[in-house]
Parts: sequence; structure tokens; C-alpha cells
Amino acid sequence: MDRKEYMKIYRMKNRTKIKGKSLEYYSKHREEILRKRKLYYLKNYKSELINNRKWRQQNPTKSYINTKKWREKYPEKLKEYLRKANSNRKAAGILTLEMLERLRVENIKEYGILTCIYCMENVEGRDTLEHLVPISNGGTNNFDNLAIACKKCNSCKGDKTYDEFIKYKSVADLSNKHNVSLKQCAN
Ligand SMILES: [Zn+2]
Repeated sequence: MDRKEYMKIYRMKNRTKIKGKSLEYYSKHREEILRKRKLYYLKNYKSELINNRKWRQQNPTKSYINTKKWREKYPEKLKEYLRKANSNRKAAGILTLEMLERLRVENIKEYGILTCIYCMENVEGRDTLEHLVPISNGGTNNFDNLAIACKKCNSCKGDKTYDEFIKYKSVADLSNKHNVSLKQCAN
């Protein structure tokens, strides 16, 4: 029996013991582990985001159950989250049709044709409203915070700010930024 096989059998036989030990280790070093995990996430957030999304798409039931568990485990956090989202929405203020029309007019004035501010593609007939600072991050419906983007850039941007998204895109690939970043978002 080689070592690998031996270890496998050992792990199977001592599953409870090993689990207990790693739990013990975890509870002792919780802060440090969490800090390291966070650091790792910050360093690798781009691929982590893609991995997380992939995992959720491949495991919709597990993902649903995890979310449900989280909601049940942290009712106060959930409440706080919903309260914050609601108050952000209210604080964002009212969006008017006139503002949307003015946005289109000014976009065309600047670019000659209705254009996504991120990928510079023509978005005539398929434009979406973009909040430079996302409402979830305290952005408003003030005219200064509004822009026009294509659907792909908009959904890829998520709740990143303008600067964060530009950085995200340029990390993806400067020379081929549209295709590469969108490919990554589609993953
Ligand atoms: Zn775009």
C-alpha cells in the first residue's frame, strides 16, 4: 500500500477525529484564518467572483439552500440588509422620464450616437440606465450619477463603483478589454 492510499484509508477511518481536530483548530485560530481568507479573496477577487458565480450556476439547489440557511441563521443581518436596501432606494430619489431623455440627448451630443460609456459600443435600442455609484452603495438618481451603458457592461459591473469597474476591466485585459471582460462576465 502506498502512502497516498494509506492516508486515504486513515482519513476514512478517523473522519470524526479529524473533523473534531480541524474544528478545534478553527475555533482557536478563527481570527487569523478569516483574515487570511479575506486577504486571499481581495488578492484573487476577480477569479473568485467568477468561481463563485460558476459554482452557483452549477449548483442552483445547493446555492438556494445555502442562501436559505444564511437567512435563517442570521435573521438580524438579513433584516439590516433589507432595511438598508430599502432606505438606499428611498434616499436615491425620484427618476423622471425627462431625466432619462436628457441623458440620451447628452450622450448622443458627446459621442455622436447612443454609446455605452464603458465599452464605447453603439447601444441604440438596447441601452440601459447605469448608476455610476450604485444605489446599493449609497448612489442616487441625481443626474450626475446617471449614465448609459450596454446591458452586458451594466450587469457585469454589478455593484462596483465606476472606478472599481474600470480597474476590474483593465485587469481583465487592456488591449482587448471589451471581449475579454465580457467573456469573463458571461462565465
Ligand atoms: Zn458596454
